[in-house]
Amino acid sequence: MTRQKRFILQEDEIPTQWYNIQADMVNKPLPPLNPATKKALKAEDLYPVFCEECCRQEFDQEHAWIDIPDEVLDMYKYYRSTPLVRAYALEKALDTPAHIYFKNESVNPLGSHKINSALAQCYYCKQEGTTNVTTETGAGQWGAALSYAAKVFGLEAAVYQVKISMRQKPYRSILMRTFGAEVTGSPSMSTRAGKDIITRDPMHQGSLGTAISEAIELATTTPHCKYTLGSVLNHVALHQTVIGLEAEKQMDMAGEYPDIVIACFGGGSNFGGIAFPFMRHNIKDGMNTEFIAAEPASCPKLTRGVFQYDFGDEAGYTPLLPMFTLGHDFKPANIHAGGLRYHGAGVIVSQLLKDKMMRGVDIPQLESFDAGLLFARTEGIVPAPESCHAIAATIREAVKCRESGEQKVILFNLSGHGLIDMTAYEQYLNGDLMNYSLSDDVIKKNTEGLEHIL
Ligand SMILES: *Cc1c(COP(=O)(O)O)cnc(C)c1O
Repeated sequence: MTRQKRFILQEDEIPTQWYNIQADMVNKPLPPLNPATKKALKAEDLYPVFCEECCRQEFDQEHAWIDIPDEVLDMYKYYRSTPLVRAYALEKALDTPAHIYFKNESVNPLGSHKINSALAQCYYCKQEGTTNVTTETGAGQWGAALSYAAKVFGLEAAVYQVKISMRQKPYRSILMRTFGAEVTGSPSMSTRAGKDIITRDPMHQGSLGTAISEAIELATTTPHCKYTLGSVLNHVALHQTVIGLEAEKQMDMAGEYPDIVIACFGGGSNFGGIAFPFMRHNIKDGMNTEFIAAEPASCPKLTRGVFQYDFGDEAGYTPLLPMFTLGHDFKPANIHAGGLRYHGAGVIVSQLLKDKMMRGVDIPQLESFDAGLLFARTEGIVPAPESCHAIAATIREAVKCRESGEQKVILFNLSGHGLIDMTAYEQYLNGDLMNYSLSDDVIKKNTEGLEHIL
């Protein structure tokens, strides 16, 4: 018998509920605060911005399991289950005794995990009578997923894309427009927030923070228009747990259980998606799986940020969120992993990191592409620049196993493919990419203005 490479679930084995780790957390996340009054916010306070069901999910610390609506499950079946794959060729190239598995979230038509939450958010918006959705996007993965999901549920989508990413990845804005969305580079002159940012800094290249400010402004000033977010928030990570819940069944098919679970980290949604279902067994069943979030060395909120209340966006429109942050006006270097250029971490992950349920590692840009190249040449899949960080962290662990002789089981999430990111690979192959160092002084300056509420 030859060894099994891929583990696939049948349609009727796709999970029918998402897992809400908030219900099982020993220390619950602190509440978001109204920046003016410093009072804790409730779900209703966010209704003007997000659809109501997402607001309720955001604050739900009670129900561990939340039903996936049938209409969303029907759409999941267009591309789920995604394969769990044993990376035999990568293991061989690393000469490691570790067993390396990856969950391949790149195999949907949009090319990343983001569609898992885009479908859910657009479904709820439609149900509640919304006609328009708006959002920000960095690399364009979320924007593309939202544009498609909006089309599926009959909504109009307006997307603010970070200017620098729009230039680096022109095909993604074309992809969004192909699905019918209206795309604007941020900062733009079309909102007050955008004008303010450009007035202060005419050469501003844009960041997720600037684009979020603009999208929220549009949503709150337009009737029947809701804002959607592809990462950071609790309900987004909730929708992504379909990844880990499938992986749990698939690891079972492989007859293994992960010693280490790894994902790259922008705001935490693909990390939470693959990690939380396994983490529940650490919390409830005494398992000892290690959880590693791989962030870029140039945007190191988990490894070098502070745990404070901070704004989620550059202009300060959002509530104050208790999170590991580099400061809301932190300007990350122009690395190619656009989806990881965000100053903060989601509040659930921040609490879990504070409680040492997981750890962060920071990966320099060149190491991430070294890892991506090795993965492409062994497993035959070109990873997204974001996903390369997870692969690099996996390789570090697999090399440790080679040195210690331990046969650990490592599972990582391949959050997306890099076929629309080939200019990044071109620059890497031509030797034109660099690492960015970040001094402690810069981080200190950026975070010392934060209010010391924690
Ligand atoms: C958006 C994105 C990320 C980062 O976002 P998270 O919310 O941290 O998952 C990672 N990988 C890909 C491919 C992305 O599109």
